[in-house]
Amino acid sequence: MINYQDLPQVFSEKLTKSNAMLERANNVLVSFVTTGPYRAPANVTFVKRAQGSRVWDVDGNEYLDVTMGYGPLILGHAHPIVVEAAQQAVADGTTYAIAHEHEVHMAELMVDAIPCADKVLFCNSGTEATMYAIRIARATSGKTKVATFEMGWHGPHDYGLIGSMLSEGKGPASAPLPSTDCSGVSERVAEESIKLAFDCEESLQRIRELKDEIAVVIIEAMPSAYPLQMQSFLKRLREVTTECGVLLMFDEVVTGFRCAYGGAQEKFGVVPDLAAFGKAMGGGMPVGAVVGTNQAMSSIVSSGDPVQDAMERKVVAIGTFSGNPVTTRVGAAVVEHLRDNPSIYRDMDALTAQVKTELNAFAKDKEIPFELLGDNSWFMPYMGDKPFQHARHCHDENHVMRNIMLCNYLRYMGVYFPDMHTGFFSAAHNQTDAEFFVDTCKTALLELRAQNLL
Ligand code: PMP
Repeated sequence: MINYQDLPQVFSEKLTKSNAMLERANNVLVSFVTTGPYRAPANVTFVKRAQGSRVWDVDGNEYLDVTMGYGPLILGHAHPIVVEAAQQAVADGTTYAIAHEHEVHMAELMVDAIPCADKVLFCNSGTEATMYAIRIARATSGKTKVATFEMGWHGPHDYGLIGSMLSEGKGPASAPLPSTDCSGVSERVAEESIKLAFDCEESLQRIRELKDEIAVVIIEAMPSAYPLQMQSFLKRLREVTTECGVLLMFDEVVTGFRCAYGGAQEKFGVVPDLAAFGKAMGGGMPVGAVVGTNQAMSSIVSSGDPVQDAMERKVVAIGTFSGNPVTTRVGAAVVEHLRDNPSIYRDMDALTAQVKTELNAFAKDKEIPFELLGDNSWFMPYMGDKPFQHARHCHDENHVMRNIMLCNYLRYMGVYFPDMHTGFFSAAHNQTDAEFFVDTCKTALLELRAQNLL
C-alpha cells in the first residue's frame, strides 16, 4: 500500500487521459461535471462506460460504483430493461408535445404506488418538482411562507438555497435562521422562508406559532445529507400540520421508489399532502414529478389552456420535455419491474445492513473514528470525533477531511465512493460487491490509521 501523500503521483499515472480531458473541461465548462460533485475529488476521473455495479474510466480503470448517479440507478447501470425501453422509445420519436399513452401509464403506476398520489404533474428534475410543489402549496393554501429543514436539500432553486446542506447553519441549532446560501439568491426569498431543525420538538412548536403564515412544511423523509430514520418525528409532524391546517410535503426525490415501492410515506406509514419525486422513478432518465391529494393539487388541475389557467389564477407548470415519451416509457418499465420484484428491496436493504454491521463493528473494535450511517439502500461514512447526533455535524472539520481521504483511497483501490456524499446500492450489487466494499474500506481505514491520519 502506498502513502496517502503519494496518491496524487499515482493518480497522475493512472489517470493520464482523464487529466487531459480535465484540461479541456476547465477551458469551457463552469464545472468539469455539471451534475456537480458535492465535493470535487482531488483526482478527477472521466467515465467511459458503466454496466451493472461497475464503471470504467477513459484510462481503462474499473471501479465498483456506489455513486449510482446519486440515486437514480436503482437497477444498476445500463440494466437491460432500461436499455430496451429507451431504444424502443427513441425509435418511436423522442418528444411530441402532443398527448401520448406513456405519460398516462406512468401516472397510473404512480397513483397506484404512492399513498398520497391522486394526481401527478411531470417535470424534468427533482429541483423542478420541489419548485412547482412550493407554488402549488402556496396557491392551494393562500399563504406565502415556506418552511424547510436546515441541512436539507431540495435542489438549487431559490427556496432550495436557503439554509441548505451547503451552509453550516445560522442561529440557534433548534431554531435556525433562514439566510441565502450563495449570491444571486434574492434576500426576499430568505424573508419568505422559515428554517426548522430536523427531529426537534421546537420545530413543531414553531409550526403551531406560525401556522397562519406557513403555506407548506417541506421535509426529506430521510435527509439526503445523512440517511437516518426519524419515523416518530414524521408522525408528530403529520399530526401537528394537520392540527394547524398547514400542508405537509415530503421530498421523496431520493426515497421515492427506493425506501419502499410506495416511498418513505409507505415505509413509515405517514402520508403527506404533497410529495416531490425524481431519481429512481426515471431509472436514469432526467425526471421529476409532483404528486398529491386531490385537495392539495386542486390549484393546479388545468383547464388544458395555460392562458385560461393563468386568468383563473391557477398554477402554471408546463415544459417542453415534461412527461416526455422516453422518460415516461423508461420510468414505467423500471417501476413495473420494481413492483413485480419486491425482493429487490429486501436484497438491497440486507446488503446495506450487512456492510453497516461489519464496518461499524470493525471501526469500534479498532477505535477508528468511522460510522457508516445508513438505511435501506443508501449510506454515508461519518468520521467526526464524536458520534453523529445533529445535522450540523455534517460540517465537522475532521469528518470532512477524513471522509475525503477515505474516498480518495477507495478510488485508488477500485471503489468509486463520491466525496462527502451518500453512496447507494442497487439491484445490480451482489454479495461479492458488498464483501469487496467492506474489505476495501477496512484496508483504507487501517492504512490511514497506520499513517497517523485518523
Ligand atoms: N431533493 C432531494 C432530496 C435531492 O436529494 C435532490 C438531488 N440530490 C433534489 C431534490 C434535486 O433533484 P435534481 O438533482 O434531480 O434536480
